[in-house]
Amino acid sequence: MKEACVISAQALKLIGEAVEPGVSTLELDTLAEKFIRSKGARPNFKGLYGFPATACISINNEVIHGIPAKNRIIRAGDIVSVDLGAEFEGYNGDNAATFACGDVSDEAKRLMEVTKESLYEGIKHALPGGRVGDISAAVQQYVESRGYSVVRKYVGHGVGTSLHEAPEIPNFGVSGRGVRLVPGMTIAIEPMVNAGSYDVKVMPDGWTVLTSDGSLSAHFEHTVAITADGPKIMTLP
Ligand code: MG
Repeated sequence: MKEACVISAQALKLIGEAVEPGVSTLELDTLAEKFIRSKGARPNFKGLYGFPATACISINNEVIHGIPAKNRIIRAGDIVSVDLGAEFEGYNGDNAATFACGDVSDEAKRLMEVTKESLYEGIKHALPGGRVGDISAAVQQYVESRGYSVVRKYVGHGVGTSLHEAPEIPNFGVSGRGVRLVPGMTIAIEPMVNAGSYDVKVMPDGWTVLTSDGSLSAHFEHTVAITADGPKIMTLP
């Protein structure tokens, strides 16, 4: 599983480095797919529930599940959320990050920073003997105290021999509640944070999730193992 996670992290890093004005989201997707396959792994988003690509690439007010396309061109000032994973020898990795294209607004920078930090706040609470709600509450508290909102409709999840497994890992909740965390569990923690309201809607393409109020959104995710020694981030390049 560590192998699957490292490949996932390397593919995400590769896309991040390729984000520049004028590049299409399909070009980024192709780059990631080629890389993952070159490692003897499989892009595990492709075909899952019918999703057609290796990466979900979502720009600005798009939250998640953006479909890469040749005519979707990234421009300076955009923030680009990329979510992808790899399966290697039957095990899965999953990770996401939001990248800035060139100079972005101070608001966009702050949103990205808060979202990334909220992920690490959640990870801090991925402790053996704790509960899923400890992670959820930590993310929610961090985000909301900074004036942003966490998406409610989509959540993190267990990850292992399948990409999406129980339990759900919401980014909102009450500490001390929910499934007990035990060593050996592997979970994807993935705050999706909106600058405005947490309400979202799905585009007519049936995939792309947008903020209902048009505000910016950011997304960071790691696959994390619960160990007796504490949380271990698996998706590091
Ligand atoms: Mg995920």
